[in-house]
Amino acid sequence: MLPRGKRGTSGRKSKEVVYAAVRHNRRRIFVSDGTKAQQYTGTRRVIVHLHPDELRHRMVEAQLRQRGIQDERVLAAMARVPRDEFVGEPYRTQAYDDNPLPIGEGQTISQPYIVALMLQLLALAPEHRVLEVGTGSGYQAVLLAELARQVYTIERHAALAHCAQETLRRLGYTNVTVEIGDGSAGLSSYAPFDRIIVAAAAPEIPRALFDQLQEGGRLIVPVGPPDAQRLQLVMKDQGSPVLAEQIGCRFVPLVGEQGYRE
Ligand code: SAM
Repeated sequence: MLPRGKRGTSGRKSKEVVYAAVRHNRRRIFVSDGTKAQQYTGTRRVIVHLHPDELRHRMVEAQLRQRGIQDERVLAAMARVPRDEFVGEPYRTQAYDDNPLPIGEGQTISQPYIVALMLQLLALAPEHRVLEVGTGSGYQAVLLAELARQVYTIERHAALAHCAQETLRRLGYTNVTVEIGDGSAGLSSYAPFDRIIVAAAAPEIPRALFDQLQEGGRLIVPVGPPDAQRLQLVMKDQGSPVLAEQIGCRFVPLVGEQGYRE
């Protein structure tokens, strides 16, 4: 093992040198950007990818905790759930980067920070029943399944819903029900819900979703056109909506009866 603090060929001094050196047979390696270890042997340069567990830990610390995510249950769930399992092979090495990634059908898996922020704002409890609109890859559904009792998730693209279902099965999650359809109208057969989370931007707060919210419940939904969206947290207080929070954001459109037209 290299002595702690020994400089790699980059001249950098950091504990990543030690971490990478341990993993790769005591060679001199430095970490260039937090996701890849670059090894120099003579004139040859080899890229060595760090283990997903390590990348996930870095993601939680650097992208979430340092930006103000404080809910320890959310942080622990994000540290457990393997985001790399929810993206296609070409994107696996980028799975813990600080941005959304393509998942097919012109859709994206959301940036980890925005997912964590929404989960924190929802204030989930273990007994909650949750509706998610916009299953996408199934990543956020699995995080919800870690934090709540039962998750119902609806996706308008059948191919994405099937793929998410397969990932859920492979990872062993049994408390998530995946439906195919227009989630802008909610999922009345399973209503009411303690919490509702919408992963696509609506023109306004969909009435059907608010109606399917339990008294005292919380609904989080991005509202507005692509260049002027606000993430809105709505609480149901004696049957009326109370707007609790508004944050700038950027989501794909919610397409449907109570969303945008295709
Ligand atoms: N939560 C997802 C994940 O963890 O991968 C990311 C969701 S992506 C940002 C938004 C998703 O909402 C897309 O998969 C899109 O097809 C879906 N969507 C858009 N309008 C919808 C609707 N009316 N009903 C259901 N899903 C919808």
